[in-house]
Amino acid sequence: MSLRFVFLDRDGVLNRSPVKRYVATPEELELLPGTREGLSLLSAHGYGIVIVTNQQGVALGQLSSEALAAVHDELRRQVSGAATFLDILVCPHSEFEGCPCRKPRPGMLLEAARRHAIPLARTFFVGDNPTDVAAGHAAGTRTIYVGESGALAEQAPDFLAEDLIAAARIILREDGLSVGTTTSACP
Ligand SMILES: [Mg+2]
Ligand SMILES: [Zn+2]
Repeated sequence: MSLRFVFLDRDGVLNRSPVKRYVATPEELELLPGTREGLSLLSAHGYGIVIVTNQQGVALGQLSSEALAAVHDELRRQVSGAATFLDILVCPHSEFEGCPCRKPRPGMLLEAARRHAIPLARTFFVGDNPTDVAAGHAAGTRTIYVGESGALAEQAPDFLAEDLIAAARIILREDGLSVGTTTSACP
């Protein structure tokens, strides 16, 4: 059982943001440089890793639930050996439905906290969109923004990071855990 947790956005944090609006097939899933290493670092330090992702393509009829499940199977396959995910939460609703789970609303974070007894105030949410930062603030998590800080406008994350490795190092440092000099995955 994990004592520490981390929330990660999917597109733009783990995998390259889709050129089209959605990652619709396993073949379109391309991990970003450093994803395996960042996950490995978190996993090695005992973090329960929870993915929270908006996928409104499902509601808009551009992505079937089966296709989304296949993409997540592929994601698990590509990170196997580096990390396993404690949970993957998806908001399949469209931005027009006003659901409580679509980021920037905090529904997925609150649901994950309920399911896994996650202490939100001690948990980081890593995202590449201002709506991720907003969802983190709304749920009471700490926040790390990955990407161009110019896009942030009024959202103020607790930390900025270049990529998932940098984010993982910030998390370990802030949690008082030592970071080894090697970030390579275990053989
Ligand atoms: Mg994203
Ligand atoms: Zn939703």
